[in-house]
Amino acid sequence: MNDNESSRLREIAHNLGERVKELNCLYGITRLVERGNPSLDTIMQGVVDLIPPAWQYPEVTCACIRLKDGRYKTAGFKTTRWKQMEDIIVNEAVAGTLEVYYLKDMPASDEGPFLKEERNLIHVVAERLGRIIEHRLAESRLESLYVEEKQLRERVQAEMQRRIDFTRNLIHELKTPLTSLMATSQLLYEEETNRKLGKLARYVWEGANSLNTRIDELHDVIKGEIGKLKLEVKPIDLADLLTSVVNETQALAGQHDVVLRLQIAGPLPPVRADAARVRQVVLNLLNNAFKYAAEGGRVDIRGTARRNFVKVEVRDQGPGIALSEQERLFEPGYQVAHHAEAVAGLGIGLALCKLLVELHGGKIWVKSQPGKGSSFFFTLPAEAGGVVPS
Ligand code: ADP
Repeated sequence: MNDNESSRLREIAHNLGERVKELNCLYGITRLVERGNPSLDTIMQGVVDLIPPAWQYPEVTCACIRLKDGRYKTAGFKTTRWKQMEDIIVNEAVAGTLEVYYLKDMPASDEGPFLKEERNLIHVVAERLGRIIEHRLAESRLESLYVEEKQLRERVQAEMQRRIDFTRNLIHELKTPLTSLMATSQLLYEEETNRKLGKLARYVWEGANSLNTRIDELHDVIKGEIGKLKLEVKPIDLADLLTSVVNETQALAGQHDVVLRLQIAGPLPPVRADAARVRQVVLNLLNNAFKYAAEGGRVDIRGTARRNFVKVEVRDQGPGIALSEQERLFEPGYQVAHHAEAVAGLGIGLALCKLLVELHGGKIWVKSQPGKGSSFFFTLPAEAGGVVPS
């Protein structure tokens, strides 16, 4: 090997050594960030300490990171005129600088005494610092958002509990006098021999009963909305249930001058349901149908078996409901404007039906055309493996 070749080899080895130092510096930064969960201060100080060994003359190199909230320096740091500097960019704005200094004059190279590879390295390290800071900022923002969200959730829960307690007390306050009003008016109506007074007592009794039902419905809607409405399900025969509700309500239909007809389309499979709650749904739909059916009109109720559910339809020949109203019909408190004037109500009957049907795993919907009456449908899932009776 001649002199030329051996000095070329030495140069290559030297350059390789420099690249290894740079790689060590970058690898050191990665380890620093990934080991445990170091504070930003620890990372910044660690990075600044990794700089001198990566430069060509470590013994005369010092470095510093300047940020808005802190300064991190190598031991014996001093500013000199042999300086290399790079901005640290965080979220697209300059957040600080990374500076490297030689403590004394060194042989001239690509950029003063510094190598072009050192320019690349300071650039890469400053960029890495920017990403680390951005990541930390995002993490602490996330943490404070989490704390805020937790506090908000706790406040909402406390407020909900306060309202639940208030409603429970209110319902109790309303029902206590109402219960005795119902009992005494019923007694009066049954015992009163004077026909006129007996009739008045019956009005009071019916009014008190209807108020009692409304309060119960309101209570159920509130319980349903907070997930506290529970069902007692068992296999029930829907055809039996519909028949008994229809028999019970024939008199009421008569009072409205409406003909009520039940049709069971073929045998129905048993459904898993809370019979009292399904009754409540059917009664609500029938009551509405009676209210709106034209005098002398018809109300039809029909039960049909489908593949794995049973469908019930309550149809009237009343004024119908505009398409624009249909979407909101099942919301608590929603009332069709021009009906509300004619018929007093709170707009909770259908909301309760929806709650109850959906609690059973069924669906409820309406099909209606103004002037052509309305059909309310609901489904209940058939009991798993339930057999359609032959
Ligand atoms: P409420 O509890 O006040 O009776 P509902 O929740 O039962 O109210 O009904 C909501 C709205 O839908 C009411 O404004 C009512 O007028 C209207 N509605 C319900 N059933 C019918 C029907 N069969 N025909 C026409 N309008 C109806």
